[in-house]
Amino acid sequence: MNSRLSKRVQSIQPSGIRRFFDLASKMDNIISLGVGEPDFVTPWIVREASISSLERGFTAYTANAGLIELRREIAVYMERRFSVSYDPENEILVTIGASEAIDIGMRAILDEGDEVIVVEPSFVSYAPLVQMAGGVAVPVGTSSENDFKASAALIEAAITPKTKAIMLCFPNNPTGSTMNAAEMKEIAEIAERFDLIVFSDEIYAELSYDEDHVSFASLPNMRERTILISGFSKAFAMTGWRLGYVLAPPDLLAAMLKIHQYSLMCAPTMAQYGALEAMQSGMDDVEKMKQSYKQRRNFIVKSFAEIGLSCHTPGGAFYAFPSIASTGLTSEQFAEKLLLEERVAVVPGHVFGAGGEGHIRCSYATSMDNLEVAVERIGNLLQKL
Ligand code: PMP
Repeated sequence: MNSRLSKRVQSIQPSGIRRFFDLASKMDNIISLGVGEPDFVTPWIVREASISSLERGFTAYTANAGLIELRREIAVYMERRFSVSYDPENEILVTIGASEAIDIGMRAILDEGDEVIVVEPSFVSYAPLVQMAGGVAVPVGTSSENDFKASAALIEAAITPKTKAIMLCFPNNPTGSTMNAAEMKEIAEIAERFDLIVFSDEIYAELSYDEDHVSFASLPNMRERTILISGFSKAFAMTGWRLGYVLAPPDLLAAMLKIHQYSLMCAPTMAQYGALEAMQSGMDDVEKMKQSYKQRRNFIVKSFAEIGLSCHTPGGAFYAFPSIASTGLTSEQFAEKLLLEERVAVVPGHVFGAGGEGHIRCSYATSMDNLEVAVERIGNLLQKL
């Protein structure tokens, strides 16, 4: 142990994704299905609104919770799209990405040793953010047999007297799995019975291809115990803007705001002006991008079947999570071979936690041309194995 560093930080492992990208960045002619972000540039109207805010000299801090106009737009948008109603004055906070929302949500509710059940495979930040807030992440795996949906029975089995919250994400990164209202209600019932808070990361809500997204907070009695997280990165193609938001009942929101105001003050002002425009007039662009992802989703699922790669149909986000178990290789070995021998970068499934081993995450947020070549190269590797 290095005594200059906190034990807490030293106990956290660096993200398993990085090793691959370090390797890939030194190679030529790589097709990357690795990155978890849109391949679109942010819609022009959004960029223009942000530029205009700078031209008009809006360069000061905003309110800690974010521009009130933006919070009002978020409230209108969430009501219209997902039938959840939040008060812009004391139930909505504009954050520096959904990432900050998860971080301050954890810090707001956890005491040392409190447990958070994390449904996995999941976004790689959840468990480390739980740990950095002093909590203990308790993984509960999902599997392709169940379309990577969270199992209420497994969640219930993981509950202890220290359990404080459940972390959910649907549509899911890395599986693309979605959940409908009936399936989520089983988890809601447990949250209520054991008096747990539910973190619902709904950042991919707009990218639901087969069924309308159901917000966890819209289920009966769930609003009061849900920390609903979303943001602009994915649907609006705004990853670099670092803008997200969190919706929660006033006591939870006030606690998060306290952390946010001392550690970050407010989200970047020019980004908030862009986001305001995105909410007011960006929905046509969102719909076009969604249709394009859907077309690519359909292509990749069909193509994987043709080359004999078993893959559940992802209902949302922009990831496919096929099984490579039949090759006898671990997901790390498969991903390494695929990179070194066929020059396709994917992410080995085990980095996403329980249930991820035996799979690879393929982001299809890349051009059709790239996807066609990538599928051919993955097929070549499978032939060789
Ligand atoms: N949640 C999930 C499920 C994600 O996939 C990501 C980005 N990869 C984030 C949150 C973080 O998003 P943001 O850019 O808003 O911080």
